[in-house]
Amino acid sequence: MYDGVLRLTLPDGVETVGFADDLVVLAAGTTPQEAATLAEEAISLISSWMEAHHLELAPAKTELVMISTMRRANSRHPVTINGVERMPKESIKYLGVILQDHMVRGNRRKLTRVQNLYVRPVARTFISVRYEVATVLAGVVPICLQVKEDARCYRKQQETGTSLKELHVLERQATLAEWQTMWDELEPTSRYTRWTHRVVPDIGLWKARRHDDMPFYLAQVLSGHGFFHEYLHSRHLAPSAECRRCPGVPESAEHAFFQCPRFADVRQGLLGEDSEFPATADTFQALLLSSRERWSDACVAAKIITTTLQQEWYIERATSANDGMVAAVQRLDAAHEAAVAARNERRNEARRALTRERQAARGAPPPAVHPDGRLLSSEELAERDAHRLRTRDNVRRHRARHRLANAEAPDCLDYLWALFGVEAFQEEDEPSGH
Ligand SMILES: [Zn+2]
Repeated sequence: MYDGVLRLTLPDGVETVGFADDLVVLAAGTTPQEAATLAEEAISLISSWMEAHHLELAPAKTELVMISTMRRANSRHPVTINGVERMPKESIKYLGVILQDHMVRGNRRKLTRVQNLYVRPVARTFISVRYEVATVLAGVVPICLQVKEDARCYRKQQETGTSLKELHVLERQATLAEWQTMWDELEPTSRYTRWTHRVVPDIGLWKARRHDDMPFYLAQVLSGHGFFHEYLHSRHLAPSAECRRCPGVPESAEHAFFQCPRFADVRQGLLGEDSEFPATADTFQALLLSSRERWSDACVAAKIITTTLQQEWYIERATSANDGMVAAVQRLDAAHEAAVAARNERRNEARRALTRERQAARGAPPPAVHPDGRLLSSEELAERDAHRLRTRDNVRRHRARHRLANAEAPDCLDYLWALFGVEAFQEEDEPSGH
């Protein structure tokens, strides 16, 4: 009856869809305001057409929803219909389907989050590896591209009647091309993404591989997120990014796996270092995909190298924790000693002051007298003072030895060392007889 309304010339960016007595107007704009203005223009044209055909548009029965990637508060823009202002709703139901205003933004994020959960165990990467890299390593098409492909196939099936299975085979090429473009554009964003892009440049070939699952060790090499000093240092888990063997060279995945001389024998045996086609970062994808044997050799090499680095890192961590604790104990000891010395000095000074006061009250000391009754000579006085000083020093030394013998510090250190899982260094007995 009102098919003519579907043939009306409407502004660019506006489409109409009719079903029974419902009419949907789709207005697309770069901002919510632009979309609202376009919708108003279109609705005004439709309303005029209806009046001319003795029909009436019911503003009260018109529902609006603004589907936008913007925040909900910013995307709500009123639309005037025949002089009545209508605000977009949060959701409307059309032909049994609920359309929500935050559909695009919210759904993409939710879908990505869900896919991220199941891609990790497939890619076997560290949790710090970004989603885009994990999907490439796992060879799993990002969910948003998958949804787009489904939509294209569905539309073409409606138009041409071809089976969905055939359409998916055809559309998969377009999806892979789009994924490859996304991957190439993502490449400059970080050094780890650059690295993975360098070792896995071709998504189509990578996804088509028929080898076994991705092992955790190879995922470390391909993502650069592994027990390499460069990565550990960037996460504040190692004191420096330097290679343990090569001074001044950062220990990246590339250095450890393809360059470091300490793993030369591993590369010789498993990566064909001395052969005609040695493995390098730029030829690694081709080598991995060339045969099942090369793939498993590379996995074994990755396992040996990353496991060695991992064990070394554990020991480093334990040692540095130990060193840190010993240094802290030494600092505490030194601070304690300084505090005790300062306290003793204050006490001694107070005592000396008291003695001076008493001597002043008593007046001059009586002359020193020999048991014979005669006055001491000046040599005898000097000898007596020297003897008193020697005795005082002996008493001090004895007291210091006594304190040391009773000190409990060694036990305390043993306990701290044991706590960090490294056995305390055992001092061997002095060889006797010499
Ligand atoms: Zn090195």
